[in-house]
Amino acid sequence: MKLDLKLTGCRAITMDPARPAAHTIGIWQGRIAGLDEQVADLPAAETVDLGGAVVLPGFIDAHTHLAWNGRRTIDITGLTTVSRILDRLTDAPGTGWVEASGYDRRAMDRPLTALDLDRVSGGRPVYVADLSGHACVVNSVVLKRLPGITSDGWLTENEQLAARTLRLPYSLGEITAELHESARQVLSEGVTMCAEAGIGAGLIASSPLEAAAYQRAQLPIRVQLMVSAHVLHDVTADPSDGVPRAIDLGLHTGFGDDMLSLGALKLWTDGGMMARTAALSEPYLGTGGSGQLAESEGSMRAAIADGHHAGWQLAVHAIGDRAIDFTLDALQEAQRQRPRADARHRIEHCGLVRPDQLGRIASLGVVPVVQPAFLHSYGDDYSEIMGPRRAPWMYRGRSFLDHGITVAGSSDRPVADGAPLRAIEFMVRRRSSSGRAVGPDEAITVEEAIRAYTLGGAYACRKEHVLGSLTPGKLADLVVLGEDPRTSDAIAEIPVLATMVGGTLMTQRSS
Ligand SMILES: [Zn+2]
Repeated sequence: MKLDLKLTGCRAITMDPARPAAHTIGIWQGRIAGLDEQVADLPAAETVDLGGAVVLPGFIDAHTHLAWNGRRTIDITGLTTVSRILDRLTDAPGTGWVEASGYDRRAMDRPLTALDLDRVSGGRPVYVADLSGHACVVNSVVLKRLPGITSDGWLTENEQLAARTLRLPYSLGEITAELHESARQVLSEGVTMCAEAGIGAGLIASSPLEAAAYQRAQLPIRVQLMVSAHVLHDVTADPSDGVPRAIDLGLHTGFGDDMLSLGALKLWTDGGMMARTAALSEPYLGTGGSGQLAESEGSMRAAIADGHHAGWQLAVHAIGDRAIDFTLDALQEAQRQRPRADARHRIEHCGLVRPDQLGRIASLGVVPVVQPAFLHSYGDDYSEIMGPRRAPWMYRGRSFLDHGITVAGSSDRPVADGAPLRAIEFMVRRRSSSGRAVGPDEAITVEEAIRAYTLGGAYACRKEHVLGSLTPGKLADLVVLGEDPRTSDAIAEIPVLATMVGGTLMTQRSS
C-alpha cells in the first residue's frame, strides 16, 4: 500500500481515547489510514514534516448560518448613535432594498426609528438587522407594506419575519457567493464542517431553492443542512407508515453524503436573550417581561411529534428555561407515542438551564448545542438581565458533563464570533470580553472543550462514525495549530496554520 500523504513531526491530540496522541498520520483516499507504527514503514506519494506543530481533528460548528453570515450588507457594527448610523446609510449603493446589519439596540444613545431611516432612504425600503437575529428596524416604506402592524420601526419575531419575507428571495447566485465567503472564513479558523441551522423557511431563509445553492456551490467544507419544520406539509402516505407530514419525497435526516447531507429538522420555541424574547419562567430583571413562546403550544407540539414520527432528528431552538421545559415535555411525549432508539434530539442554544432540568436533559438523551462565545461577547448584559441567582445557569459546561450529557459546541455565526478557539477559551476560563466571571463553576478542561468542538459536534450531527477524532478509518479532516491549547494562556490567539478536509489542504497560513 502506498499512502497519498504522510504527516510527520505532529503533536497530534487525536481525541480518540484508544490512542490519545500520535506523531505520524498516514492518509489514503481522503481517510486516515493509520497512526505512528501503523504507517511508519509505508511509502507515501508526499511526506510533510510539520516540525512539531499541534494537530487536532477539524473543528465542527454544529450550529451556524453560512448564507446569512456571508451576506453583503452595510455593516453598522459598533455604531452607537443614531446620527452615525444615518451617516453610514446615506447614499447606499444600488437600487431596491437597503440592508444593514450589526445593529445593537442595547448600546444605542436612543433607539433608531422608522422616521430616522426615512430621512436617508430616498424612498427605498430599509431593513436594519439587530445583532440578535430576532429583531430589526425598518423604515416607513416597509411598514406601509405590513398592514396590521403598528410600530415605530422596531419589529421582533413574527413581525420581523413578515418584514423579512417582503425582501425574499435571494438568487442562487447571491446565496452561492455568500456560502463561499463563509466557507473561506470558517476554514481559516480551523472549521471543517458546519451545520447550517435552518433552511427553507423562517427568519433565516433565503430562497425556496436554497438547498440547490449548497448542492451547486461545491464548498470546500462539509455541510449539513437543517431543514425548517415550517416546510413540512401534509402527505398521503400509507397509514401504516405513520407519517402525517413530511418534506417532498420523504427525505429526512441522514440523506446525502459526507460532504453535504440533510441534518436535523429545525424548530423554534422561543426568541433570544438579546431581544428579551427568550421564554423564561421568571421575568427578566428590570423589565417585568418574561419573553414568549414562538407559537401556540399546540402547533409546536404537533410539529415536534410529526417530525419525530417522520424519522427526523429534531433540533429545537430553546433558550429560556420555560422554552426548555416545553421542549423536554414535547420530546418526552413524542418518544412515549412512538419510541425511537437513538433519536438523539438536540436543543439548540439551551441557554438558561435550571438545576432541576439537568437530570431531564440527561435521561431523555438530548444533546445541548451551546454557543459559548455568546457569553464572551454578551455575558455582561446577560448576567444583568438574569441576576445573580440565574446568571450561573447560562450556557453551562461542567454541569452538563457531570450529568453524562454530550455537549456540542457551535457559534450561531454571525450572531457571535465564530472562531472555535475563542469559544474553547471561554469554556475553560468563563470570562466575558470585559473580564467578568460568568458562571465560573461551569468551567471545563481544555480537552473537554475541544471534545465539544470535535467529537461532540460529530455526535450532534450523527457523524461520529466518520468525524470528530483522528482515528484510522475516519475522514482525514484536521487542523494544524501553532501552539498546544492545553498549555496556552491565550487559546483564542493561537494561530491556525493549516486546515485539511478529506486529506486535501484547504488553507495554509503563510508565515
Ligand atoms: Zn441560529
